[in-house]
Amino acid sequence: MRAMRLERASAPLALVAKLEPPAPGPQQVLIRVAACGVCRTDLHIIDGELANPKLPLVPGHEIVGYVAALGENVRGLRLGDRIGVPWLGYTCGECTFCRSGRENLCAKARFTGYHIDGGYGEYAVADARFCFPLPPGLDDVAAAPLLCAGLIGYRALRLAGQAERLGLYGFGAAAHIVAQIARYRGQRVFAFTRAGDKTGQDFALSLGVEWAGGSDALPPEKLDAALIFAPVGALVPAALAATEKGGTVVCAGIHMSDIPSFPYRLLWEERVLRSVANLTRQDGEEFLALAPKVPVRTVTQSFPLEQANEALASLRAGRLNGAAVLVP
Ligand SMILES: [Zn+2]
Ligand SMILES: [Zn+2]
Repeated sequence: MRAMRLERASAPLALVAKLEPPAPGPQQVLIRVAACGVCRTDLHIIDGELANPKLPLVPGHEIVGYVAALGENVRGLRLGDRIGVPWLGYTCGECTFCRSGRENLCAKARFTGYHIDGGYGEYAVADARFCFPLPPGLDDVAAAPLLCAGLIGYRALRLAGQAERLGLYGFGAAAHIVAQIARYRGQRVFAFTRAGDKTGQDFALSLGVEWAGGSDALPPEKLDAALIFAPVGALVPAALAATEKGGTVVCAGIHMSDIPSFPYRLLWEERVLRSVANLTRQDGEEFLALAPKVPVRTVTQSFPLEQANEALASLRAGRLNGAAVLVP
């Protein structure tokens, strides 16, 4: 099989043309990859900002594919089933986090495209217990961004509570899905892009947000909650300054540049600042049941697998509207 592989940190991905397809172990399935989304986290791994990735590594944790072989003891899946593989690839089921409904924080968690080879290839192996059936109505490419951008965006939205006025900082793959869900829930949405990014602001407005502007601007009204998707620490004090008393600011990314110091008055008055880490399988089930009701539509730009480095460069430069998806 062909795959795009990270051989060492900070190097471009290398095309490996004749890799032996992996064999599914117990409780695993072999998946023929039909599409794999490109996530900002992939860049953090490639850039060496996340410690100790598997090396060499096939990145990619937004996999849509078809079951091509079953390992032992796989229940509930048949050959040919369409499934999605998310970031959460394995949890122990036994630690205090797993036993308290917080498997996203499992002490022994393993993540797809980080500790486990992912979907930047023609085939991938995944633990069947962590795969999701996908709703019909979205083709393979369109469904791929649901698996991280959508899913972790949904968790961030849920943890921000019932905010009437919601700010989204960084209007990429996650925000363009979250905006649709928030509107469906009756929330008013305010989008923040890089300063001067008229294209990004027009894209946000086309999805029904009420206001779009640069992240250096204040919204026309105070926000009740803000979700930060861009990996920029300076957005934390900016979002707090835009947030109403008692409001919540959620950092939704896995890595962020350092947060500059800021005056306590920005946090004072019971504002809450928190992060969101990973996902639970329950988040996935809830989100994938909700998505067809909205219905969530994704905007994607597909790239052939061999152009993974170009897709990553476009994401890094902010040149994408919506989500990049690799097609093998
Ligand atoms: Zn655990
Ligand atoms: Zn991701």
